[in-house]
Amino acid sequence: AIERARLSNAAVVLGTATPSLEAWQRAQTGLYDLVSLPERVAGGRTPEMVLVDLTVEERRKGFTYLSDPLKAAMEETFRRNGQVILFLNRRGWATVLLCHTCRTSLKCPRCEVSLTLHRRVNRVLCHYCGHEEAPPAACPDCSTRLRPLGFGTEKVEDEVRRVFSGVNVARMDSDTMSARGAHATVLDAFAAGDVHVLVGTQMIAKGLDFPNALLVGVICGDSALFLPDYRAAERTFQLVAQVAGRTGRGPKGGRVVVQAYDPQHNAIRMGISQDFVAFSRGELKQRAELGYPPFGRLVRVVVQGKDLDEVRARGRELGERLMGRAVRQPAKPIVTESLLPGMEVLAEPVVKPGAGQIAGVVLLGPAPAPIPRIDERHRWHLVAKCETDAAVDEVLSRLRGQVAPKKDLRVLVDVDPLSML
Ligand SMILES: [Zn+2]
Ligand SMILES: [Zn+2]
Repeated sequence: AIERARLSNAAVVLGTATPSLEAWQRAQTGLYDLVSLPERVAGGRTPEMVLVDLTVEERRKGFTYLSDPLKAAMEETFRRNGQVILFLNRRGWATVLLCHTCRTSLKCPRCEVSLTLHRRVNRVLCHYCGHEEAPPAACPDCSTRLRPLGFGTEKVEDEVRRVFSGVNVARMDSDTMSARGAHATVLDAFAAGDVHVLVGTQMIAKGLDFPNALLVGVICGDSALFLPDYRAAERTFQLVAQVAGRTGRGPKGGRVVVQAYDPQHNAIRMGISQDFVAFSRGELKQRAELGYPPFGRLVRVVVQGKDLDEVRARGRELGERLMGRAVRQPAKPIVTESLLPGMEVLAEPVVKPGAGQIAGVVLLGPAPAPIPRIDERHRWHLVAKCETDAAVDEVLSRLRGQVAPKKDLRVLVDVDPLSML
């Protein structure tokens, strides 16, 4: 849209309560004009915020993912004839089936990820490759009974039914919303007041406007905070701020209960107060110090293949091509990259281009990707942090001709990647 407007010399209005840090930085530096609308829509009032520490709640006897403060807030909302939105960014019933003897979870045979139990269809599913099977009663290795752990939207739905009898619950996630028109049916029922509690994934995080939704509960606000992605905090902030914006949209005001394992984290605290300015200040400072977007650009290279040794060798070969010399895998990481845990820096930033090195590029990796195997393919990745567009161009030119599949190896190059997993 921005490119189209440039061609026709038109103005673009980017409207949001939670801009991306890239867009925000452009506004700050005068590339975009900033127009602030500090007031909430239609005379709504800023909702009351309640933070719940899940590490404390978990120790209570009989704990479920509906904590006591959340249950109390729900009860009060029902008494006022209000409606409740419960948000959780994970579908399914249990996210892990754990064997206590082996201390491992039931894994997808094709991927290095745990299978999710979906009770309604009574299957365990892989959310990455689509593998599914009947839930085994016992551990395939030692025959110990498997224990379901973790929680998804299905379990939250069941828990609401168990605790509040007579309350109508509807669930919106990609499991329940596959039929045509399902989306509108549920939202109409919620708008009409026939549904008292709406449980859902990111599908319900944005844009919904129900003045009678007096309570929004975030079941686990920081479920994405600990992913090895430099944007984990930004995404957590956006999500919490957007979900918090689902209430307080009418004259009756509203309340937000956010449950989190690290409720004091800036992304959570500033997310519930929707204080983007304060959040961006700290976040941008850290990005600037470490040279991450919007202060630099990233080129991510993922090598995939069935043979782990070949994948590793190819990753190293590409690393050497980008460094312009042989790279030695250090015994210990040279620099700890707090924004991309698990990736090692192979060399200090090059100030003056030496023999074959690219100025303004820091190479991270090669290292196993956070999800080291998907659909029977091992995955290693490299990330080139580039100070300038010219550095990006040079990195890409060195990768030219390298992406053609060799035997069963695939090389994927992603500039300014959206996912680091
Ligand atoms: Zn076992
Ligand atoms: Zn899988």
